[in-house]
Parts: sequence; C-alpha cells; structure tokens
Amino acid sequence: MKLHEYHSKRLFAAHGVPIPRGEVATTPHQARRFAEELGCPVVVKSQVLVGGRGKAGGIRLAQTPDEAEKVAGEILQLEIKGLPVRKVLLDEAADIRQEIYLGIVVDRANRRPVMMASSEGGVEIEEVARTNPEAIKKVTIDPFLGLRGYQTLALAKGIGLAGQHFRAFGRIARGLYDAFLACDASLAEINPLVVTAAGELLAVDGKMVLDDNGLFRHPDLAQMRDLDEETPAEREAREAGLSYVQLDGEIGCMVNGAGLAMATMDIIKHFGSAPANFLDIGGGAKAERVAIALRLILADPNVKAVLFNIFGGITRCDEVARGIITAFEEVRPTVPLVARLVGTNEEEGRALLEASGYHLITATTLAGAAQKAVVAAGGYDEHSS
Ligand code: GDP
Ligand code: MN
Repeated sequence: MKLHEYHSKRLFAAHGVPIPRGEVATTPHQARRFAEELGCPVVVKSQVLVGGRGKAGGIRLAQTPDEAEKVAGEILQLEIKGLPVRKVLLDEAADIRQEIYLGIVVDRANRRPVMMASSEGGVEIEEVARTNPEAIKKVTIDPFLGLRGYQTLALAKGIGLAGQHFRAFGRIARGLYDAFLACDASLAEINPLVVTAAGELLAVDGKMVLDDNGLFRHPDLAQMRDLDEETPAEREAREAGLSYVQLDGEIGCMVNGAGLAMATMDIIKHFGSAPANFLDIGGGAKAERVAIALRLILADPNVKAVLFNIFGGITRCDEVARGIITAFEEVRPTVPLVARLVGTNEEEGRALLEASGYHLITATTLAGAAQKAVVAAGGYDEHSS
C-alpha cells in the first residue's frame, strides 16, 4: 500500500526528520486560508499516488494567497496519470540550494534493508540508476545492529555532501530508518532531501510503501489507504481476502495458488491470447469466496471466456465446484467456460458441475485447458502452439 506524500512526511517527522510546515486542502478556498496562515511563497502540491507530479503540472509555486487559491483550483481539476487530484498539500516554500536523494528499500537478495543516497536528487532513482549508476551510494543494514553512524557518514561523504551537514544528514537517515521499521514499510524515500539557503536539511518530498502483510499491526496506517489507487473490483477482492489484479486481456482466470496463477497466465499467452486478470483464490477456498471471485471476473466486459484451473490439495475440488455453481445462480455467465479441476475430490467436483446443468468445457491438462479457453474466446492460432 502506497502512502501519500503528506502522510509519509508526517510519519518521517514523527521520527525526527525535518519537514516544511504544511497543511492539506481539498478546496481552493481552504488553500488560500492555509497560504495566509503559512505565509507566502508556498508550494501547492497535488496528492496523488504517482511520481513525476512536477512534470504533469501538479506542483506549483504561489507567491500570494490569491495565487495559491487560483493554482490550487487548477491542480484540483487535474487528473495525473489517470488519477483524480482530490487534495493538495500547501507547504512553506523552501529556498533550495541542493537536492539529494535518500531512500531505503528491502533488498530481497540480501534479505536486508538497503539505504541509498545520491547527489542527483529530485530525479527518479530508477532514472539515475540507468544513466549514472555511480552516483548512487548504498549501505546494507544489519537488522540486528541497525543503521550505524559510520554507514551514514560513508553515504554523506560518498555523495560529496559538505562536512557541516554530516550530523544533520545522519540524524535524518536514522529517522528515516526508524520510520521505515516502525511502519513495516517496504520502501521509504525522501526525494529530494534539500539543503536550504539557510544551510538546513529539509525533506521536501516523501514517499512510503507499506508491506500489506504488516498492516494488521497498524490500523492507524491502514486507514490512510487511498481508495482511488485500486479499481472497485480490486477493492472488493481485497475485502474478500482474494489476490486479484485486473489486466487487459480477454480470458478471465480463476486459479488457486499464486504460482499456478502465474503459470496459467503464461500458458494463455503462449497460445496466443492474454489473461484478463491475475486471481489467486487461495488455499482451502470456500464456495462463497469462489462465488465472489467469479462475479469479479464476469463483471469485466473484456472477458470473452473464463478458465478455471484448480489444483486440489488443501482446496477441495467439490467445494470449488459448489462455489462455481453458487456464482452461476447469481450471475448468469454469457461467455464460454473451461474447467480443469484436478486433485482432491476431483470426481465429486466434476459430477457436481455436470449435474448442475451448466455447460462447461472440461480439460485435464494445463495446456489443454489453456488451448480450449483461447479457442472459446475466439482467438486460437494454430501457429502459436
Ligand atoms: P515529484 O515530482 O512528484 O517527485 O514531487 P517533488 O515534491 O519531489 O517536487 C518536484 C520538484 O519540485 C523538486 O525536486 C523541487 O525541485 C521542486 N520543489 C518542490 N518543493 C519545492 C519548494 O518548496 N521550493 C522550490 N523552490 N522548489 C520545490
Ligand atoms: Mn520527488
């Protein structure tokens, strides 16, 4: 789950990272009032969960409260990369002398957090990694030792920061790491961390991505979720405990297990079509959950055929079959359906589907099921097999 800039920065501030004074407005009128209170100039910043807001016109300076009101009005009308702007952050403008990058991510290969710094702040780190990788300095953090002083010093020196800022930089790096740990984040980033004309370090932008698996420990953070980030279908799936990602293909997939779902998507592509979604109904899925999943799949107008690929282990095929039938009673499918149910209780599952009177094309192998689904969707190409 991604957090908005203003949430991220406030969490950083709670761990000792200096941030500009700021307020969040939802109307131009409010923006004017905050601009008056904060004192101009202010920066008016769109709060949307995408990068590159600056280039999209979503970050602008205002010299007067009048201008803040006007600029906020314009930004609140924007849609940035498909996301509507519903809030703007008004920050006391910083007089920027230098922009640096400071971030932490989990390095899965090393199984440790990595802190990165770069003198090329304000630019997306992926861009720096491509064009100027030597500019990025990294330290690996031992979770039992924590972030050590010599490590932040190495980063500060590595990016050529002036010695007078080392102490402040170290404090900010530790604050960022504390916030990262405390929130169970998978990413925490300050870009840019700026040196102001007054010689102070200030986190002008902030970004955090939280580990969804840790969210149960943070009900306060879970509430910060921006519902615009998900499609309505994805939201319903999350609430039902399903892993669902909407894609733009034409074959709806209902699969148990993430690995099997990936394999199913690959083989659909192999036979010349494309999956309409990634969906893992999980282990031991009950009929009700299967019904929700099928409803989600069939609600997508791009879906021309549905492929059920169930490998019964803990999940029982008869239970899944019951879910499929329950769902059929609710949403009458008008597209062809292909089912491959193998494993625990597969005979019972197949018998239930047959007895239900709904027409399902059956298959026993993964390749066979995928081919039949691609044909059923009207797109099988002999040559692609
Ligand atoms: P992003 O484009 O979505 O990453 O948004 P940022 O908050 O990083 O802002 C983009 C750029 O706008 C920064 O790199 C700065 O150059 C500039 N900027 C942001 N805040 C201020 C500010 O307070 N004063 C000035 N002068 N520039 C700012
Ligand atoms: Mn930024």
